[in-house]
Formats: sequence, structure tokens, C-alpha cells
Amino acid sequence: MRTPLIAGNWKMHGTVAETDERIAALLPRLSTVDHADVAICVPFTALQAAVDSTRGSQLGVFAQNMHHEPQGAFTGEVSAPMLAELEVGGVVLGHSERRTYFGETDRALQLKVPAALEAGLQVILCVGETEEEREKGDTERRLRHQVQEGLEKVPSDRLGDVILAYEPVWAIGTGHVATLEQAQDALAFVRALVADRDKEQSKRSRILYGGSMKPDNAADLLALPDCDGGLIGGASLDVSQFTAIVEAVP
Ligand code: PGA
Repeated sequence: MRTPLIAGNWKMHGTVAETDERIAALLPRLSTVDHADVAICVPFTALQAAVDSTRGSQLGVFAQNMHHEPQGAFTGEVSAPMLAELEVGGVVLGHSERRTYFGETDRALQLKVPAALEAGLQVILCVGETEEEREKGDTERRLRHQVQEGLEKVPSDRLGDVILAYEPVWAIGTGHVATLEQAQDALAFVRALVADRDKEQSKRSRILYGGSMKPDNAADLLALPDCDGGLIGGASLDVSQFTAIVEAVP
């Protein structure tokens, strides 16, 4: 009942020319995919090109950040209505790189998530513990804080619309993937946190795993009971690897 989502997070990769080229290579490979939603999350400067070259296809286009206000004196920022105007389908919020390098806080995300939904964007809200937090036994406490704060201002009847991505920070870009047990435990815990707010909505929530998902580990991760897809960094820049992950969706 939950359509899996495979989302490629290109991060700060992709000029317009590279974006056009990668999408042109990707689209024919996705033409037979009907069992999963597929999206790419591209830099702001490539959004228009990505929207134009995916129009009419099943490949969705997401941004990687936005400001919670619709407009204002926020130099260098981009708002949700600005993304919606470009026909961007959604936005990744709270990625660990934004939290680590750009001081993104749970408090800021509390405003961004409902602002994105209000503008008609899909949201992928990223959560995950650091290595130190896992070693200290603080994983659940960290996830609880991130999920509760991030969803706090989302109306109950829209909770199930928020896509969550469990991305252990220690697994991102390291090649050190979570074990199946670690991943399933955390994914189920995240769903339980949504259920604390609204049990029915939590059955609709799509919860992705992210962190060193590759063609050789994707099938096992994607088969986990609470895994509804993947947020793919490094492997999403390689059309063959990304396609192989899409094909690994059970
Ligand atoms: P990775 O990145 O697949 O390169 O580990 C995942 C992410 O940052 O979303």
C-alpha cells in the first residue's frame, strides 16, 4: 500500500549540462519501472533544466533545501513557493550535511516542513544519529527528538504525507552501511514515533533508508519490513548503479 521511493541525492554535483546528460541517460532505463517512484534531488541551479527534461516522465525532481518564509530579507535563500513555481515536486530537508556544515536545527525544520507541504511540495525529512550517539546508546533519543520536532507543526491529517529518511550519519558517504538489524530497528522506531502522533497516518508514512546504499546491498535493505525506499548519495551519480538500485526494489 506504500509505493516505494528511490531518491538520488546529487548533493553539490551537476551543472546544467551534466544534469541534462545524466537525465537523458537515466530516462530510457526507467521507462519500464512501474513499481516504485523515482526522484532526483539536484542543486538549485539545475532545477529548471531537470524539471524541463523530466516533464511527462515518471522521474520526480526535488530540491535539497529551502527557507520557511515565502519571501523576505533572507539573502541567498530560496522559498517553497519559488520551488513550486518551477514545478519542482519536493524538497529534502534536514540532511545531515545541512545540519553539520550549515547549522540547520530541529527548530528551523519545524517551520520548514509545514511550509513545504503548504506550498504543495513533497518533503523528505532526514534524521539519523552520529557514530558517537550510537556508541553512547543515544540513537533512539536522537531520533525521537528529530522526528518529534520536525513533525511538530505538521497537522495530524498530513503526517503520512511526510517522507522520512533514516540516515545514520556514520553511514553517509563512508561505504559503511548499517546492518539489516540496525536499519530495521531504526526504521521501525521512526514509524512508531509517527504512530505516537497518529497510528493510521504512520501506516502511510514512507520511511527510506540512506547511507552507503549500493547495488550490492540495496535488495536486502529494501526488503526490510519498514523500509519504503532509499535516499542514495554517491551511487545516484552513476546511472548504472542508480538504475540497479531502482531495479532492486522488491
Ligand atoms: P551516500 O549518501 O549514499 O553517498 O552514503 C546518502 C545521503 O547523503 O543521502
